[in-house]
Amino acid sequence: KQPSSHTTSHTQSHAQAHLQTAKPAVAIVWLRRDLRFRDNTALNAALSQQSAVLPIFIFDPHILKTLPQNDARVRFIHQRLQQMHAYLAKHHGSGIARYHGDPLSIFQQLRQQMTITAVYANRDYEPYARQRDNRIAAYLDKHHIAFHTFKDHVIFEPHEVVKTDQSPYTVYTPYMKCWRQQLAQQWATSAYNADTDMNNHIPTTNWATLADYPSVSLASMGFTAMTNTPNADNTAQNICAEGTHIESIRTYDISDDVLMHYGETRDFPAQDATSHLGPHLRFGTISIRQVMKKAQQYHADIFQNELIWREFFMQILWHFPHTTTQCFHAKYEAVAWRHNEQDFARWCQGTTGYPLVDAGMRELNATGYMHNRVRMVVASFLCKHLLIDWRWGEAYFAEKLHDYEQASNVGNWQWAAGCGVDAAPYFRIFNPHLQAQKFDANLCYISRWVPEYNTANYSSPIIDHKAARARCLATYQQALK
Ligand code: FAD
Repeated sequence: KQPSSHTTSHTQSHAQAHLQTAKPAVAIVWLRRDLRFRDNTALNAALSQQSAVLPIFIFDPHILKTLPQNDARVRFIHQRLQQMHAYLAKHHGSGIARYHGDPLSIFQQLRQQMTITAVYANRDYEPYARQRDNRIAAYLDKHHIAFHTFKDHVIFEPHEVVKTDQSPYTVYTPYMKCWRQQLAQQWATSAYNADTDMNNHIPTTNWATLADYPSVSLASMGFTAMTNTPNADNTAQNICAEGTHIESIRTYDISDDVLMHYGETRDFPAQDATSHLGPHLRFGTISIRQVMKKAQQYHADIFQNELIWREFFMQILWHFPHTTTQCFHAKYEAVAWRHNEQDFARWCQGTTGYPLVDAGMRELNATGYMHNRVRMVVASFLCKHLLIDWRWGEAYFAEKLHDYEQASNVGNWQWAAGCGVDAAPYFRIFNPHLQAQKFDANLCYISRWVPEYNTANYSSPIIDHKAARARCLATYQQALK
């Protein structure tokens, strides 16, 4: 099954048209995970048609209720929308209407206020988003309003890179090869190949100039002005990183240095050698095409492979939505997880007595980020050393990571637990000490986050490595019997 385009088109009845003449006619661009003006497919499509364009954003209580209080990611979205709004207000007398409520009731409300000529949106592939969009598509269809949806968040959608029999790839390497072949074909034939910047301007015409643009304050969504978590404001700013300057909406980019040296340096957590693009790809403050184009220019193959992992896990979640909560390989459901809350709490706090694990968890708690190498180590440690269900770790990361992406988080956690697609085999158990020796030989990263390491104040190990390894192997073997 392919992602549906949701495109419907019906002629309005004469009576309806008459009734609606008094209302302004607008084409709505429903922003979701594409918070930018440049190279935004749905927005460009909307701006190329006749009606005035009104961008909207809906803070959905169904999503908000799953997030911690004063969530930095919501602040980030809120700030970003304010900047985009201010830019439109200043340059076009226009703006972004921001709502808080169930998307269906917001569309009902909008239909009372305006004649919606069509709705434009970029597709979102997560299971909840798909259900939500189907609901909205049905509603709009009932009212004869076209719902045009577009590929924008990925280079290839889930049905575009499949085996010859149309079934999905469940192993990364053949997926990656097929993906690369298709990219080469696409770039050989399309505008991606051009030297000019893709759509690298903010479209200037056709914005709606309605008088009122509703905006939602953070306070009205239960956020406190001064957050209890000392780092939340900083980190919202870190991931936002734009200040209040609105003369131009800053576009994000990857440093040339990162691209040139990524292959050699990306595994060393003490070096700031990865792109930190996670939140920007997640919320669409950068275009994936822009990132891919730059990676291609620099021949940054290893970096590109990581972006392909992102799409690999997205297509897995799209084809196998049950894997949000269930093991991809069902036989691993039999693993007898320990459900030990004390051990889990020590892992969360970063007091396991394994310095690389503790450094990673403390980095996560303080900044909303953790280096990929360390994510692999802490995830393996939770599932294999502590025999705690990957779903507990996945949920903790979902709460804390600023770059949280359901497909990547679930995919990588199942990879670490050994139960996912193309996963690390269950008998491959990272030795956290060896990992530290290899990737943080000078203890730079560890001493940054665990200053008491090598003093009497440091926790003793929660479990002996050899004993943990033996217990893990026995438990998995029992499950797989
Ligand atoms: P870079 O190294 O600069 O990579 C560039 C981009 O490629 C990333 O921003 C990301 O979009 C993508 N990418 C890189 N590695 C992976 C990967 N292994 N899987 C999928 N995409 C990748 N990544 C997330 O985006 N969201 C998550 O919720 C997430 N959870 C993870 C959980 C675990 C247990 C592990 C082991 C990894 C997880 N990752 C997740 C993957 C990876 O750790 C992060 O994408 C990366 O560390 C983000 O930092 P960066 O932007 O500097 O990455």
